[in-house]
Amino acid sequence: MKKHIIILIFLSFLNLNSQDDKEIIKRIFDNSMSKSKSYELLDHLSNEIGGRLSGSLNAERAVKWGKNELSKTGFDRVWLQEIMVPKWVRGPKEFALIETQPGTTFNVDVCALGGSVATPSVGIKAQVVEVKSFDELKELGKDKIDGKIIFFNKPMKPNEVSTFNSYGLAVNQRVNGAQEAVKYGAIGVIIRSLSLRLDDFPHTGVMTYGDLPPSKKIPAAAISTNASEKLSNLLKINPDLKFLLRQQCKQFDDVKSHNVIAEIKGSVYPDEIILVGGHLDSWDLGDGSHDDGAGVVQSIDLLNILNKSGYKPKRTIRVVLFMNEENGLRGASKYAEISKKNSLNHIFALESDAGGFSPRGFSFTSNDENFEKIIKWKNLFKPYLIHYFERGGSGADISALQTNDNVLAGLRPDSQRYFDFHHAANDTFDAINKRELELGVFAMTSLIYLVDKYGINN
Ligand SMILES: [Zn+2]
Repeated sequence: MKKHIIILIFLSFLNLNSQDDKEIIKRIFDNSMSKSKSYELLDHLSNEIGGRLSGSLNAERAVKWGKNELSKTGFDRVWLQEIMVPKWVRGPKEFALIETQPGTTFNVDVCALGGSVATPSVGIKAQVVEVKSFDELKELGKDKIDGKIIFFNKPMKPNEVSTFNSYGLAVNQRVNGAQEAVKYGAIGVIIRSLSLRLDDFPHTGVMTYGDLPPSKKIPAAAISTNASEKLSNLLKINPDLKFLLRQQCKQFDDVKSHNVIAEIKGSVYPDEIILVGGHLDSWDLGDGSHDDGAGVVQSIDLLNILNKSGYKPKRTIRVVLFMNEENGLRGASKYAEISKKNSLNHIFALESDAGGFSPRGFSFTSNDENFEKIIKWKNLFKPYLIHYFERGGSGADISALQTNDNVLAGLRPDSQRYFDFHHAANDTFDAINKRELELGVFAMTSLIYLVDKYGINN
């Protein structure tokens, strides 16, 4: 009998707790939808600062801005962590055209890939070989490729629910296309932009030459999906057509930059760190509102919303605005290195780097025991339709923090439109919906509240 009473008391305590959680999460929702500063912050970051590629003046302006904004938000301490970042500059607008016969040309929407070398100042002009894979390159061999431009035209796979999966299946041609094509004597590569939509925006992104010596590096550019369709169709009619590409981008020596870090010490478990973050750098064509301005402002706003909801963290909460996610991950590496050196205990890390769209939930990297605990919180998110709780990746900037017993998480917004904007000139503030951005703040703040309250692995 006594045992039963104890169980009853325990159960009602559990109930009380979950009733409490429901109420606090409702409060977080109310505050996120009416008192969030995220949209206003993003307006400034996007429209007053703009695109902020690592090593640029804008990236440094963003660092100053981030530090200043975090200083206003009630953290105990805000500081900069020094890193060296690559500096690649696009130069004047790139130019490309298709010449079907002397005097008949079509202009092509084009942009250099990040890290690419320039063409000679007059450009490169050559026949085009279209392929969809590295295997095709190998089959064609040097005979058919030498002296030509390789056109990688593998589209993103439409029948994947997560467009990040489609991206993952096609991104290799952008990242490694040039170093593969040069093996067979190609003089340049053009890539079909990684977008599921047919439009005129070329999408940039990082590429690498691996260990190639400078003399072996060939220019690499992306053309819009519409231009890719057109080029492919024209090649069917006239395989001898010529393509002209001109770009003047340049790689400089590494320069100094910073991660921006803010921390509020936990009142009960100060040594347990819960990290929230996004990346401060962006590509240069747009203003990086979705990638990753959204994640940055959501992270900055999180403590503000917790404060307004009357919750005081028991554990240490750290916001990290990482530098150089796009073309080097130097900020993430440095942060992980220093954390390891100082034996910091990150029990949980959450990154928002999948756009400012309506959140669907989270993906987690976790051991079984911790995941069982977290999955129980899913029902609290159901009334808000944010209850996708699955195992999977977290975020590029935090993945190096993984241990056997911590949990890493990524905010998972609806991904259907993300690649319409990703790394392109239309990733701008007008592509952001205020409510959707704020729902992301709500989702992140609620999850952090639960992690802070219940801890991980204890
Ligand atoms: Zn990103």
